[in-house]
Amino acid sequence: MSEHMKREAVARPLIFEIGSPESRCVEAPTLDVPDIDMAATLGSGARSRAVRLPHVTEIEIARHYQHLASVNFGVDSGFYPLGSCTMKYNPRIDEWACRLPGFSAIHPYQPAESVQGALGLMHGLQDALGEISGLPAVSLQPAAGAHGELTALMAIRAYHVANGDARKRVIIPDTAHGTNPATVAMCGYSVTQVPSNDRGGVDLEALKAALDTDVAALMLTNPNTLGLFDENIVAITDMVHAVGALAFCDGANLNAILGKVRPGDMGFDAMHINLHKTFATPHGGGGPGAGPVCVTDALAEFLPGPVVVKDADGSFALATPARSIGRIKAFLGNFGVLVRAYTYIRALGAEGITEVSEQAVLSANYVKERLRGAFDLAYDRTCMHEFVLSGERQRKQHGVRTLDMAKRLLDHGVHPPTVYFPLLVHEAIMIEPTETESLEVLDEFVDAMLAIAREVEENPEMLHEAPYTTPVRRLDEAAAVKQPDLAWKPAE
Ligand SMILES: *Cc1c(COP(=O)(O)O)cnc(C)c1O
Repeated sequence: MSEHMKREAVARPLIFEIGSPESRCVEAPTLDVPDIDMAATLGSGARSRAVRLPHVTEIEIARHYQHLASVNFGVDSGFYPLGSCTMKYNPRIDEWACRLPGFSAIHPYQPAESVQGALGLMHGLQDALGEISGLPAVSLQPAAGAHGELTALMAIRAYHVANGDARKRVIIPDTAHGTNPATVAMCGYSVTQVPSNDRGGVDLEALKAALDTDVAALMLTNPNTLGLFDENIVAITDMVHAVGALAFCDGANLNAILGKVRPGDMGFDAMHINLHKTFATPHGGGGPGAGPVCVTDALAEFLPGPVVVKDADGSFALATPARSIGRIKAFLGNFGVLVRAYTYIRALGAEGITEVSEQAVLSANYVKERLRGAFDLAYDRTCMHEFVLSGERQRKQHGVRTLDMAKRLLDHGVHPPTVYFPLLVHEAIMIEPTETESLEVLDEFVDAMLAIAREVEENPEMLHEAPYTTPVRRLDEAAAVKQPDLAWKPAE
């Protein structure tokens, strides 16, 4: 192993550990009011000791944050093939648009007449998403994909309740994203899981056996989280409707079908869309995102309010649907994300949107074909925007796990793909290249994966210790989740 690979980055001090007590990077203006003794005025409410703030100069603070930014990894630093997350490049024009003062310097309490441009943008986005999804009624309120799932399921429940139909179960395939069963539970329904068939689609016999008049809905994403388009989708939604249930599409995988096929035309009654995935708004680290919900006309009156409507005189107003489930987010949702998504759609236009899905699918299939042979393919089919490899061969023959290979990718400057998801694939490696990467970048990634496959055979021990070149090496991931220690504590 080369010295370079063994190098461990030097830990940098925290901001509290640099600078000196007399350093500062702001100067308060000259006092122009009477000087009072705060401690005397506040009495027992006063602090017993000075507040502990960093004392740094402007150059120290600039370098500190510049360093932190440089050890952070994002789409702007390199390839980020995180399956199911659509980590695509976010065009800068979207950032420009959402910072325009007409959008960034308004207040949600302003009267509608004074924010017609903002409401017009929201109305335009509702229309565009309605057209893209084939589901015409749209609420922009939900703040994330999971929030959109919950909103749609609440609307579906309200629809059944309004029909005097208290149903109890929601069907979910075993490929579902973890948020789907969580949403079902939050909505007070129970989950019935159906298995996948050998082509990675829903097993129709199992679905048939699970369906009865107790079922409120099916939750399905198409393409699913294996990156496979379910060829039986129309038969599936027909079967669901035959027992009076509704079909919900988890739309987080919309990037694969944009402009090509519409969930509404597949027979879905409702879907959520992850603007922060498909419509190129930055994501990761907890948001903000946006998970608008699109539904059929039959479900429109149950959408959360308010939605933006266009009056006969052409002006825009806020209105709450007749049997609305109520408000599910403060004000009008994450407005800045909506501006970015609208800008993205308008900048690309209908043709550009279609090219997005074409390129995304082409990139995924290209990477899949180049990796064929070195890794096992979980399902050997033409994929959509992502595909799933299995590291089972590497584990069985060489004792190297998918986690080891993912960690080794960090040494190649690549953010690892999603691993160990979906759960039904052993040692899963889920790769989503997105449409924004060049052929050169895709080839570099494949070359790194092939190099790692060779290392697995030649030097498996070395992989257990990877990564070698990152600021921190292997973390205790369970402790990091269960006992996060994120706050600096001063020495007493
Ligand atoms: C990302 C994702 C979700 C959840 O979206 P969030 O915005 O993270 O809540 C749901 N389903 C699928 C298939 C996803 O990829």
